[in-house]
Amino acid sequence: MRGPRGTIPPSPPPGAALTSPDLIVVGAGLAGLALAAEAATLGLAVVVLDPEPTRPWPNTFGVWLDEVAPDLPLAHRWSTVEVAGRGWRRSLDRPYGLLDRPALRARLLDRLERAGGRVEQGVVAGATHDERGSLLALRDGRELRAGLVVDCSGHAPALVERRGPPSSAFQVAYGLVAHIEGHPWQGDTMTLMDFDGPPGDGPATFLYAMPLGGDRVFVEETILVARGVPDPGALRPRLLRRLQAMGLRLADEEEEERCVFPMDPPPPVLPQRVLALGAAASMVHPATGYSVAASLREAPVLAQALVAGLDAGPTAASQAGWQVLWPAERRAAWTVLTYGREAILSLSPAATDDFFRAFFAMPRAWWVPFLSGRLTARQAGAMMARMFLEAPMSLRLALSATAGSPPGLAALGAMLRP
Ligand SMILES: Cc1cc2nc3c(=O)[nH]c(=O)nc-3n(C[C@H](O)[C@H](O)[C@H](O)COP(=O)(O)OP(=O)(O)OC[C@H]3O[C@@H](n4cnc5c(N)ncnc54)[C@H](O)[C@@H]3O)c2cc1C
Repeated sequence: MRGPRGTIPPSPPPGAALTSPDLIVVGAGLAGLALAAEAATLGLAVVVLDPEPTRPWPNTFGVWLDEVAPDLPLAHRWSTVEVAGRGWRRSLDRPYGLLDRPALRARLLDRLERAGGRVEQGVVAGATHDERGSLLALRDGRELRAGLVVDCSGHAPALVERRGPPSSAFQVAYGLVAHIEGHPWQGDTMTLMDFDGPPGDGPATFLYAMPLGGDRVFVEETILVARGVPDPGALRPRLLRRLQAMGLRLADEEEEERCVFPMDPPPPVLPQRVLALGAAASMVHPATGYSVAASLREAPVLAQALVAGLDAGPTAASQAGWQVLWPAERRAAWTVLTYGREAILSLSPAATDDFFRAFFAMPRAWWVPFLSGRLTARQAGAMMARMFLEAPMSLRLALSATAGSPPGLAALGAMLRP
């Protein structure tokens, strides 16, 4: 049974059919709660389902501050970002922040609950749809009807249909929050990538370092993108060797982060009844892996599209939602960024270092939109062409090898589309 728009009947006793809100959001991660809070504030009755509704968000989230709202709760902020490699170092005058996860989560939950929404325990296993809405099947046998469903269940989505080869390129990192006496990282500067470490086997790795005050620091050894699913734990010895080579010693380890997620998720089938946001919607930037700022930016826009579209029925609402998330121009830009990722994947560690030296030597007006993913296919292509022309010959030769590959030809097609 479905209540009038914007009202959620109380939770039923265990074993009974669940209630029927306007919107069910699958997953209480950052994307799910951001969307749920926005939609509830706009007047929709919203229920969020998550296997562990009270579990804190596990990931360390970094964001460029010009990509997020100025009041986003931050645990730390840095005015300057450093990028470096063998024989080069560059300071970027672009502030960066570490998200205050508990504060943001609490803020979104508070907004959701004040507007009458709630988070319930539940693992979504499947969905069927009719002209009135969707019927969700939960793993414990319960069923839940809703006007619309948005899948925000992360990198291995529960419901949304995606089509394409399975992921084969992954970002992998091993990080520590630790106390390191006399560490060299200045309080107002974070290190986004430093390739200048002891040589190692396998793909290029870089250091990501965020000074957190005093001798406390977050240090992470990262492979931007590699084929296969390397074990993040295998990067720990490399991180320790890097610190040792810098004359540093870990005094105390507070927290460990093991990070692995796909950089090449298959694109969602468009349009489809189930909507998605965040990693489930394949919104991960193909060449950086970032998605937090994009999820926070798109959540209010998607919520507005859903509210406007629901009056015309769930099919129209989901079509409007997909149009907001994946308009043709964004899909084209993603195709070009995907070629960027494939080009990086083809490079040796030394060429990867050269690549980022050339990348950050570009004018800021070129690399900022590329990193944020907020650009057209032609702008992305023009940026890559300019970088190619200014790169050293050895890098140009390495990059040329991928130009005629299927991703290279797809990028060309995306740039030339009318
Ligand atoms: C360690 C790590 C660090 C990262 N750092 C950054 C960063 O600094 N900046 C950045 O932009 N990106 C970063 N990313 C990439 C990306 O932004 C994150 O993966 C982010 O968590 C994706 O958010 P999300 O809300 O889409 O999915 P998730 O955070 O994965 O949330 C999905 C939620 O859905 C729930 N769920 C799953 N299945 C079901 C189901 N069947 N039914 C109900 N609920 C379900 C899960 O329990 C979870 O709560 C990082 C990724 C990792 C792994």
